[in-house]
Amino acid sequence: MSELVRYAEAEVPTEYGRVRVVVYQVGEEREEHVALVVGDVAAGDAPVLARVHSECWTGEVVRSHKCDCRDQLDRAMRNIANAGRGVVVYMRQEGRGIGLGNKVRAYALQNEGVDTVDANRLLGFADDARSYDVAADILRDLGVHRVALMTNNPGKVRGLEAGGIHVAERVALRAEPNEHNAEYLAVKARKMGHSL
Ligand SMILES: [Zn+2]
Repeated sequence: MSELVRYAEAEVPTEYGRVRVVVYQVGEEREEHVALVVGDVAAGDAPVLARVHSECWTGEVVRSHKCDCRDQLDRAMRNIANAGRGVVVYMRQEGRGIGLGNKVRAYALQNEGVDTVDANRLLGFADDARSYDVAADILRDLGVHRVALMTNNPGKVRGLEAGGIHVAERVALRAEPNEHNAEYLAVKARKMGHSL
């Protein structure tokens, strides 16, 4: 168990309905991550519809076409709203953990023709620096032990299972390719084992 503090929570009206926003602080640096909770996720034995989502400032705020993060978050929230129950664990770790500055540096390399994975490698980072331990701890804190995980990434399933969360089912989130993200999606499929 990482040092996890449930720091704040409030119900927020959103376009997906009422969402309980729960802010966690982790470790000595008090790194903040967020759970977006709909309904009573601690009740019963049925798997809880869940997504572990990594912050993507460029996709979610700037609406960059270089990736499908915003679309995936939106689909996940809609699925949860329709089900009336579920949770998105929103990990505030930009660019698979490399940070916004390094992500934009990698974009600069991609603009010179280097693909997304190779660009990160050139910057000296692993394919995916995320740890799912914190996400697993957050789910556990919310009373969630079994999930139907919305992801195209088998690594996420393995990561959560390793963190002690039972992934009863994987729910695919299909992304619509556009002219800018088609190569990104293809690289994710080819080099990172995503099913797209
Ligand atoms: Zn993104």
